[in-house]
Amino acid sequence: MIPYSRQQIDRNDIKSVIKVLKSDYLTQGPIVKTFEESIAEYCDSKYAVATNSATSALHIACLALGVKKGDIVWTSANSFVASANCALYCGATIDFVDIDPLTFNMSIELLKKKLEQALESNCLPRVIIPVHFAGRSCDMKQIYELSIKYGFSVIEDASHALGGRFTDYPVGNCKYSDVTIFSFHPVKIITTGEGGAATTNSPKIANKMIKLRSHGIERDLDHFEPRATNEIWNYQQIHLGFNYRMSDINAALGLSQLSKLDKFITKRNNIAQKYNGAMQRLGIIPQKMSENIYSSYHLYPARFKESEFGKTQKVVFYRLKSAGIEANIHYIPIHRHPYFEKLGFKEGDFPESESFFKEVISLPVFPSLKNSQQSYIIKILEEIRDT
Ligand SMILES: *Cc1c(COP(=O)(O)O)cnc(C)c1O
Repeated sequence: MIPYSRQQIDRNDIKSVIKVLKSDYLTQGPIVKTFEESIAEYCDSKYAVATNSATSALHIACLALGVKKGDIVWTSANSFVASANCALYCGATIDFVDIDPLTFNMSIELLKKKLEQALESNCLPRVIIPVHFAGRSCDMKQIYELSIKYGFSVIEDASHALGGRFTDYPVGNCKYSDVTIFSFHPVKIITTGEGGAATTNSPKIANKMIKLRSHGIERDLDHFEPRATNEIWNYQQIHLGFNYRMSDINAALGLSQLSKLDKFITKRNNIAQKYNGAMQRLGIIPQKMSENIYSSYHLYPARFKESEFGKTQKVVFYRLKSAGIEANIHYIPIHRHPYFEKLGFKEGDFPESESFFKEVISLPVFPSLKNSQQSYIIKILEEIRDT
């Protein structure tokens, strides 16, 4: 079977992990620090805070921005549920913005309209979480301008987009946002097994996230709350935090993977180029790119319109499967999940995301996908169209 994605682990990755296993620190230690510094350097951000998942990073990013009960958070309807759950963890209300039919990202036009309406009815969001779907950055400059106009904060969910660029800037540099989140789950661009990170340029937000990642505990005497007693206080819990720490074992893998990031991204872009050529010929719609965007191609979403390709997504999906190609579907619109329907969302709320879900297939893309395997995938797509 050819999977839609898979990690690429080499001997140096394995050696790095073994080295940590023989060292003094297994949990968060010096390697996590080095990993964070390397992520910040790569993204050209001031700070990076590593966590045990992107989901945790999204949660503490929301908290660091002050999201609480009574607040409203918006994200893209076409995303993984974690993009929305982080707001619910904070007691906030979640709502969605529908996607653009060509970029498959949150539609800027619909966002503008929704903001105008929210201003009128006095229910503006406190935070907006744009998602760089498949590794393609949203137009962050436009979102940033809207954030100034309407006074919301921005968390980029860049779980797919490490190594991508928007204009001259690497995704994660936070020029147009408050925080950017990355995931290091094995199917993502680089992996730590499980893991995530948040980048930011704000010392205040970074500090808050560092505290929340480890129980809300303060270890710096200078920041202790004064005690009248003379017991030995070597740490104080100041906030209600969590254990969201990354371990040095995971960070060692991440650090080793990071050294190959640019190679991975080049490989993914080469694979995408080859698919792009075939898409036009076959009448399949690829994700629309633009001059000022360099995608990391975490996914290669291909949209099958029956009117153009002649077969439905369902037919294509199962015929790929029977040919040994494990394609995947990203995403079930978040609001269609039973949990979100119980919150009051229903079919028809975000129609473009819904029709996208019925037409999209994520074709295999990962660094070790062989040219011959990709030719085979394209040949099977031709067969499906023609027979
Ligand atoms: C994978 C993913 C997440 C969650 O990442 P974890 O590291 O598994 O917690 C969040 N948002 C998006 C868009 C993702 O694809």
